[in-house]
Amino acid sequence: MVRRHNERLFSLCGKTPTAHIRTFGCQQNVSDSEKLAGMLSEMGYAMTEDPLSADVVLFNTCAVRENAEDRVFGNVGALKASKEQNREKVIALCGCMTQQPHIAKKLRTSYPYVDLIFGTHSIGRLPELLWKKLSEGGRFVDISQDELSLGEDLPVLRDGSIRAWVPVMYGCNNFCTYCVVPLVRGRERSRELSDIVREVEDLIRAGYKEIGLLGQNVNSYGKTLNPPVSFAQLLETLDQLPGEFVIRFMTSHPKDCTRELIDTIARCEKVCNHIHLPVQSGSNRMLKAMNRRYTAEQYLELIDYAREKIPGVSFTSDIIVGFPGETEEDFEDTYRLIEQVKYYSLFTFLYSRREGTKAAELPDDTPYSVKQERFERMLALQRKIGMAHHQELVGQTVRVLAEGKGKTAPGRLWGKNQQGVIVEFDGEDCLIGSFVTVRVTQALQWAVVGIAQQ
Ligand code: SAH
Ligand code: SF4
Repeated sequence: MVRRHNERLFSLCGKTPTAHIRTFGCQQNVSDSEKLAGMLSEMGYAMTEDPLSADVVLFNTCAVRENAEDRVFGNVGALKASKEQNREKVIALCGCMTQQPHIAKKLRTSYPYVDLIFGTHSIGRLPELLWKKLSEGGRFVDISQDELSLGEDLPVLRDGSIRAWVPVMYGCNNFCTYCVVPLVRGRERSRELSDIVREVEDLIRAGYKEIGLLGQNVNSYGKTLNPPVSFAQLLETLDQLPGEFVIRFMTSHPKDCTRELIDTIARCEKVCNHIHLPVQSGSNRMLKAMNRRYTAEQYLELIDYAREKIPGVSFTSDIIVGFPGETEEDFEDTYRLIEQVKYYSLFTFLYSRREGTKAAELPDDTPYSVKQERFERMLALQRKIGMAHHQELVGQTVRVLAEGKGKTAPGRLWGKNQQGVIVEFDGEDCLIGSFVTVRVTQALQWAVVGIAQQ
């Protein structure tokens, strides 16, 4: 229906309308953008990489840190001139940032050329909002929280043809004190197991080779279903589907990462031996203040258990430096934990105050320069650890899913091994999308290089 209206509208000017989507933030946003692209495509839009010429520009935004928001404001500002040249252009913002009332208000008052503002709960309303805008003119804002849909009926236009993101749950109930996610994404909702299985079966049939299961805390998947299902059961069910593919997942909250889950990962052949297990801090005082609900000791026990059960398992993590009240001793606890666990890679963040969170009320008197110095110290440590992991791989043979053209030299491809390490190797383009056995010959800081085996 909406598509027909739209075609009529655009047939007047005799060209196919174009839309540009830019995604900020995490894989959940990437997945949401694939739905937004699916809806736009069903409406008759062709997707374009060029925001300046596009008839519709849609930014799917992130609110996790202030600099992510600043980047969005900067990019929106840059569109002002192209809107002045083309009054018909529609500028739309959605996602976690716009779900916050103070941001929606700022956009409404200070960015008059933004036409549509809608939140995480309203992505399914894009066709309706866009149609209203095109037919009636004006501006529309929808950041209501009443529709907690799982989006099962929304079309999906996927970004790639090798790896597919599959959300298994939405929202978060954890309320880590620094984090805005529970405020902008709402409470945990899990998809039915049968819906996930059907989607994965379709993806395998369509030739996808890597399934990336997504959730803010995948370990609490299925708790609210009737009857409840565990994440371990979901993994086991997907692992048994026929076909040559691998399964990855993120994110695991350490407090909910059970031994049963680790035993399941160990058993499941298609589930990669890589666990992204964000620790955030190695100081029990900070972990308590962050409301993470585990201690450094419990976390390390979990790591030991996983190492014992899953040979060659790799861990990656998220770390926040400079949480309010973090002392040098707290930071050193984090430093030591990183040394002990030896992560393959780290996503490192300087604490960013988020309006509406508990931590936003805490005094934060550590000077920025001190935080920055700690941050640099941690990066230097991780660079050494990451390089050592890569050097260990030299001489080993690894199985790699080839994903695209490499960066280190012409004629090279890149892919990831089970542990999530980037591997570059000489190979024909026809290998892209298949599993290749590679002997590693060289370690780089961010990847390893090798030779494909016959
Ligand atoms: N659900 C996931 C993470 C979601 S946000 C989990 O619990 O692991 C991704 C990462 O951003 C977090 O793990 C945290 O390290 C970081 N982050 C979240 N809020 C932040 C803030 N206010 N300041 C700095 N980093 C933050
Ligand atoms: Fe944020 Fe914590 Fe939920 Fe992760 S688990 S999304 S860090 S509140």
